[in-house]
Amino acid sequence: MVALVDVRRLIPRTDAVLADPRLTSAQQRLGKPLVLAAVRQAQDQARAGDIEPSAVADTAAAAIPAGAASLTPVINATGVLLHTNLGRAPLSPAARAAVQAAAGCTDLEFDLASGTRGRRGRGMLAALSAAVPDAEAVHVVNNNAAALVLAATALATGREIVVSRGELIEIGDGFRLPALLESTGARIREVGTTNRTTAGDYADAVGPQTGFLLKVHPSNYRIEGFTASASVADLAALGVPVVGDIGSGLLEPHPLLPDEPDAATWLRAGAALVTASGDKLLGGPQAGLLLGRSDLIGQLARHPLARALRVDKLTVAALEATLAGPLSPVAEALAADPAELRDRSERMADRLTAAGVDARSVVAEGAVGGGGAPGVGLPSAAVSLPAALAPVLRAGDAVRRGATPAVVGRIDDGRLLLDLHAVAPADDGVLCAAVLAAAG
Ligand SMILES: *Cc1c(COP(=O)(O)O)cnc(C)c1O
Repeated sequence: MVALVDVRRLIPRTDAVLADPRLTSAQQRLGKPLVLAAVRQAQDQARAGDIEPSAVADTAAAAIPAGAASLTPVINATGVLLHTNLGRAPLSPAARAAVQAAAGCTDLEFDLASGTRGRRGRGMLAALSAAVPDAEAVHVVNNNAAALVLAATALATGREIVVSRGELIEIGDGFRLPALLESTGARIREVGTTNRTTAGDYADAVGPQTGFLLKVHPSNYRIEGFTASASVADLAALGVPVVGDIGSGLLEPHPLLPDEPDAATWLRAGAALVTASGDKLLGGPQAGLLLGRSDLIGQLARHPLARALRVDKLTVAALEATLAGPLSPVAEALAADPAELRDRSERMADRLTAAGVDARSVVAEGAVGGGGAPGVGLPSAAVSLPAALAPVLRAGDAVRRGATPAVVGRIDDGRLLLDLHAVAPADDGVLCAAVLAAAG
């Protein structure tokens, strides 16, 4: 009892700890509440006897977060190019710079030459139009789900959306496309069967109640065997608008992903509207692209709901830079040469082995992930490490202080694999340093 009282009296006062130079500079950077929380936590630890009272300032300084937001930068060494849990597409340096530049006040809806109101995001819309010349008009909303909701609301409320039974998909995290579409007041008219749906099935369902025909790319599953589906061209011939959800956001065909649909091909085949995500294979920020007939795009863009789904200036900036700027990191990763990946993993394994780490280069198989190309394996290479390093790499001390990013790999056969397919070559040095720090 006496000892407890003594310890309490020895715990430094809050204002005294806050005066520590490390903590005053942290307050300027992060604001007072986050620093105060770190101090209180350290005082609690001293009270509980977990640390010496004299260590309160040091403990608080070590516990101060790297930034004011809790999101931690992660190196994606999972081999999955588009990992939904890791924020899908990483932005290019050009897109990051555009976000930074737009973060303050910017001419988002203002014409600097005339000093009057300007069209919101006109540069981004022009870049999108230029990237998809087959689209008469374009519009951008928060994500692909929002694009579908806007199309259903504006074109099919109180009417029917005709869609194949084999394409009523669950996007992920329990969200299902049919439920999303029905939430707008549109009715789903299912046609065909799970494995086979023909153009005739759609034709039989078309009538005065039809809002549009919906074609959805099965982006996260495959139906194989005795199958049939109607093409966009087949559906366009039925004389009602066809809305095509390509999911992935490929604007034109990609040679390595021949089965992945793209906006240009579906528009040329007669789709009235194509919807897609911005943060999948397009490699940009979260956004929903709407591309197609100018009368329909105009109807959607003027609908009251469009205001609730509009994108913010940071998205506008990142999307324009992704469309107009250099190749996205996702596109670069997709095109990575397997021999080059192998060289990188061997170099990294050699460096780690020389430092005494149990590391070796192994052949691996990556995947596109939530963004598309289900079942397509991407030849890759990985550094194999003891599995015990996995939690240390995910959240080491160095990570919290911002010294190295967190690293997320995958466990395979009792080893931690750091797959290099989704890692930018420029990050190899940081990745290696993170492993050395974790092992050391
Ligand atoms: C990913 C995906 C969606 C959902 O897109 P978000 O941008 O995540 O809203 C919808 N449809 C398909 C086919 C998809 O692949």
